[in-house]
Amino acid sequence: MKNIIFIAPPAAGKGTQSDKLVQKYGYNHISTGDLLREEVATGSELGNRINEIMVSGGLVDDSIVTELLKKELSKNDNGFILDGYPRNISQANNLDNLLKELHKKIDVVLYLDMDIKTAMERALGRLVCSKCGKSYHKTNELLKSKIDGICDDCDSPLISRSDDNEVTFTSRFESYVNNTKPLLDYYDSIGILNVVDNSGTPDSTFELIERVID
Ligand code: AMP
Repeated sequence: MKNIIFIAPPAAGKGTQSDKLVQKYGYNHISTGDLLREEVATGSELGNRINEIMVSGGLVDDSIVTELLKKELSKNDNGFILDGYPRNISQANNLDNLLKELHKKIDVVLYLDMDIKTAMERALGRLVCSKCGKSYHKTNELLKSKIDGICDDCDSPLISRSDDNEVTFTSRFESYVNNTKPLLDYYDSIGILNVVDNSGTPDSTFELIERVID
């Protein structure tokens, strides 16, 4: 099994595609956004500080996120998917060091592009399961839950993420352009970058991803 990094603008479908890979192949899905939301949900002092940053659309301190990631990476031996990490060059360097320590490596970087208008529409209509985190969309027929407001997989209520509003989304997108997009050159220079056409349906994007990782 491969070790994969997803790089994409917010709401471009990283979570949806990761879910598909988990279901079909049993990958370990490591989403730093989910790990941070779990810390926020504990109501700890650290969680409250993290929440303020997430609501502003900025990036949480590298040291906090890298520590959360280290715990997850040390746990698993299967192939893993990194969704939302690294988000800047310094995190990419931390990741290289961490993987060296753990005798692991990244095999494939998948880049899913999406323009800001489409990504914003997806973010503003996005619903996520309050329990398992699976993503849905309020109006897109291809991404709607079978029963309105209820998760198909675990029957829990669907909610909107507090950072899926217009103002926060705009800062998240800016942060992506300024901090995360430059990583594409880095992964291209070491020969592991794959650009995946993300302009069709989630299923057509998934087929293209399968072709890359097979
Ligand atoms: P996501 O669920 O990937 O859209 O992430 C939601 C928010 O969590 C981001 O807007 C950041 O505030 C924070 N976050 C997630 N991953 C990282 C990371 N690798 N570094 C810093 N902040 C992060």
